[in-house]
Amino acid sequence: MRFEPGAPPPPGTIPLSVPALAGNEERYIAECVRNQWLAAAGPFVGRFEDGLRDFLGGGHVVATASGTAALHLALLVSGVRPGELVLLPALSFIAPANAVRYVGAGCVFVDVEPDSGQLDPNRVREFLEKKCERTRDGGARHRESGRRIRAVLAVHVLGRPADMDPLAELAAEYDLVVVEDAAEALGATHRGRPAGRLGRVAALSFNGNKVITAAGGGALVTDDAAWADRARSLATQAKTDPVEYIHGEVGYNYRLGNLQAALGLAQLERLPDFLEKKRRIAERYRAGLENLPGIVLFGESEIARSSFWLSTILVDASKAGIDSRELLRRLEGQGIQTRPVWQPLSRSPAHAGAISEPTPHAEQIHARALSLPSSVGLTETDQDRVIDAVRRCVASRA
Ligand SMILES: *Cc1c(COP(=O)(O)O)cnc(C)c1O
Repeated sequence: MRFEPGAPPPPGTIPLSVPALAGNEERYIAECVRNQWLAAAGPFVGRFEDGLRDFLGGGHVVATASGTAALHLALLVSGVRPGELVLLPALSFIAPANAVRYVGAGCVFVDVEPDSGQLDPNRVREFLEKKCERTRDGGARHRESGRRIRAVLAVHVLGRPADMDPLAELAAEYDLVVVEDAAEALGATHRGRPAGRLGRVAALSFNGNKVITAAGGGALVTDDAAWADRARSLATQAKTDPVEYIHGEVGYNYRLGNLQAALGLAQLERLPDFLEKKRRIAERYRAGLENLPGIVLFGESEIARSSFWLSTILVDASKAGIDSRELLRRLEGQGIQTRPVWQPLSRSPAHAGAISEPTPHAEQIHARALSLPSSVGLTETDQDRVIDAVRRCVASRA
């Protein structure tokens, strides 16, 4: 049994994460086809944006063609300029690092906390205090390269919010913009406030395997009306006169289409149910696996409530008697799809020129983490099959 990356999971198998499309998806999409309104500026785009704003309890929402596009726009409106530096976690999907490069800035990879897997504010502070000097206007400049630090990009890895309070304090102290990558964290909260509204500007993603999907797509969220207007303009080729084709600056084609927004809106209607289901999946994995030697689950804290986008275990091979990759192969053999987390960005060939602090925790999590089947539609029977399979693999080796 093999899972081909990108291909539909074979029948009878338990996939990592597939969308649930049993709500108004078909009806809304049919409406788009009937009205022949498929592309951007259709009525579903506004409805989807309004729905997201209501879910997030405010802010300005600009729907985009992808989460990566939203990150790119977020950095542009934040005023990150070519040559400047952005701090981000060494453990993340690659999109935020790529977005930093799109604006001509450079990445500084900072290690994550060993337990939460999130950007470690202590390491951020250390970098600012030890490797940077003050600029005359109160900012920070990397001493060795002379480059200005403009922003800190907090990624809520696997749906759990990063520790935002100390990051906000550092941002105030060093005049940095806090940008949030909430692509995996729609529905998560930090001290009761929703992910996506914890920094100056945030990016969401509606890619196929995210908490909700629009068959691709994303959104930029900010409380700053001027930033939202600029993002909206940049996303539509910075068109200033739609009839005469006059463009005020170099823009992008980053708007979300009506057909996709229709799908996104139908998904958004069911988001509270999805989040409950994801939480229940995480709780059942915890109950079923937590007493195994060398297995711990990524969880939450008092202040950080996760979206539980993907339930993820850490496998300590010295105690479990099996490492995460061997476990992946054994589970795959039984038709159960799992996935490691990303190669630390500090090692990515795509970002070989970046500045990086030591990243031992990112390395350790990369070696140990395995995300388990977490589809909203996962049945208890199938989940029990996963739990039993993991238990047997660990017991047979320990
Ligand atoms: C999925 C994801 C993105 C990118 O979203 P796309 O919609 O696929 O462009 C960005 N950051 C993180 C952390 C993600 O998981």
